[in-house]
Amino acid sequence: MKLILLGPPGAGKGTQADALAKRRGLVQLSTGDMLRAAVKAGTEIGRKAEAIMKSGGLVPDEVVIGIIADRIEQPDCANGFILDGFPRTLKQAAALDQLLDSKGTILDLVIELKVDDEALAARIENRARETIAAGGTPRADDNAEALRTRLLAYYRETSPLIGYYFAQGKLKTIDGMAPIAEVSRQIDDLLAA
Ligand code: AMP
Repeated sequence: MKLILLGPPGAGKGTQADALAKRRGLVQLSTGDMLRAAVKAGTEIGRKAEAIMKSGGLVPDEVVIGIIADRIEQPDCANGFILDGFPRTLKQAAALDQLLDSKGTILDLVIELKVDDEALAARIENRARETIAAGGTPRADDNAEALRTRLLAYYRETSPLIGYYFAQGKLKTIDGMAPIAEVSRQIDDLLAA
């Protein structure tokens, strides 16, 4: 099964993708996580992406398409995967269609987590607070200024994907404002249908 979780920053894509991957034995593919690992490791991609990510902008399409193209070739992706944070532009979506087509496979479903914009800032602030409370370092882009840029990038570049996947008959929308367990249940219901 090949799925995409779509939604603005703070919608809960990462939380749901992680839980769903564990429930179903799928691989979670988060370009944000991969890029953060590249920044931490100081690779060439990481060095190029660091400032862009910190400001809340989007890393160039070629970079993330290259990362995903390599990753889905790995044997652990053969049983299926959940994309979280990719694609984020129409160009990335078209590249993904091409990649899957060249492997003789297709995307099964795109699940949009619909959330109230007003709630996003609070969720992001909460995530930063919880990370600090747990003794960790919050993400460099979990602050009010970067969030504004990330939201603008979402509405300008990523939200057109809702229409793109609707037109492909692949889009399902669920209420991302519900408690985590309830959102998971809604996702399971969709997959069972
Ligand atoms: P995320 O963890 O998904 O919120 O991603 C964190 C940051 O990584 C984003 O704000 C972007 O700067 C970058 N990023 C992650 N995925 C992509 C993508 N598919 N396209 C462009 N930039 C991305």
